[in-house]
Amino acid sequence: MSEFAFELELCAHLESRNEGILARQLGASVADPGGRILDVVRIEPTSSFEERAAITCEAIPDAAIESDVGTGRTRYWKEAFGDDCHPDHARRATERACEIGFFESERRNGREYVRQVARYPEWVDRIVGIENKPDLGRPGNLESQLRTDVCLALVDEAILATESYVTRAHLNRIPKEVGIWRVHHEGSADPDDESAIRIEVVREPTPLPVDEPGIEPLESHPGRTEVAVVSPAKKARTRRRLAERAYGKGWRTYEFPACAACFPTDVDDRGATLPHCDWNDRIVDVAAECGPACPGYDPADAPTVDLEAERDRRTPWQANPDGRRRRQSGLDRFG
Ligand code: SF4
Repeated sequence: MSEFAFELELCAHLESRNEGILARQLGASVADPGGRILDVVRIEPTSSFEERAAITCEAIPDAAIESDVGTGRTRYWKEAFGDDCHPDHARRATERACEIGFFESERRNGREYVRQVARYPEWVDRIVGIENKPDLGRPGNLESQLRTDVCLALVDEAILATESYVTRAHLNRIPKEVGIWRVHHEGSADPDDESAIRIEVVREPTPLPVDEPGIEPLESHPGRTEVAVVSPAKKARTRRRLAERAYGKGWRTYEFPACAACFPTDVDDRGATLPHCDWNDRIVDVAAECGPACPGYDPADAPTVDLEAERDRRTPWQANPDGRRRRQSGLDRFG
C-alpha cells in the first residue's frame, strides 16, 4: 500500500475511535521551520476544547494569541504587540484574527482598536506525532526522523505506524522511546468499527519530556551534526501553533480528480470519503498521480464531495460555530 493511502486509512480509523483532533503533514521543528514534517498529528484536548471550538473553525495566528489584546476594553492594535513582533507580522496577525472572528475591531479617531471576542482557552492536553512507514524494507531516513522527535521532545509521544512485520532488528534500531503500531487490514474485532483496520501495539511509547529543553538536529556533516538547543518556552509556543494548525487544517486535505475512473469510497464503509481509482483499484494521491499523463485517465467532471461538511459531521471540529462569522468556502483550506 502507498504511504498516502496508508495515511488516509489510518486517519479515518483513528477518527472513528474519536481520538481527538487529527491532521496530516504539519511542521514540527522549532529552530529550523519545515525541517521536520510529521505525517499525522493527534491533539488530545482538555475539557476546555468546546470553548476553543466556539471561537472559530480556522487556525488562530499565534501572534494574536500571544498579544496583549484582551477580552475587556479595546486596544490600539499597534500597542498590543511586543517589540519582538515585527510590525508587518503584527498587522497580518491582526487582520487575520479579525477575519476569522477571534478579534473584533472598531475605528476611533482614524485608528483601529481591537478586542478578543472570547478568552483563548488552554485546550491542548497532549500531542502525539505518528510517522507512517508502511514498508520498513524501504525506511528512507526514518531513524533520523524519529531520533529528532525524541531529542527535541516537541510532542508528548512519538509513534511509528507500519504494515511490516516488526523484527528484533527493527526494535533495536528504532529509538526505544518510540511506540510501534502494526496496522493490519484484515478488519477490526469491533463490529461497530467502520474501518477495516486493526492496530496491534507492538511497543508502547515512552512519554517525552516536553517541558524540558530539547535538542534539534540541524545540518549533518561528516563526523558531526549541528544542533540547536530549544528552550521549553519556545517549545510551548510551537506546540500551540502546531495544535492550532491541526485544528484549522484537519486531515482531509486531499482532492478528487476530474476522471471517470474515480469512485469516492462510501463514508459509512471506510470512515471517510476517499479518492478510490477503479482503474488502479486503490486509493490515489490525486495531486501526484492524476491527469492526462496517467494511462487510465478518462476526462469527466470531478465528483462533488464536501469534505468540510463531513469533518463537521464526524468530528468535534465545528465548521460554523455559533455566533461567529460563517467560513467562506474554499478560503485557506490547505493553509
Ligand atoms: S487519472 Fe489515473 S490514477 Fe487518477 S483516477 Fe484516473 S485512472 Fe485513476
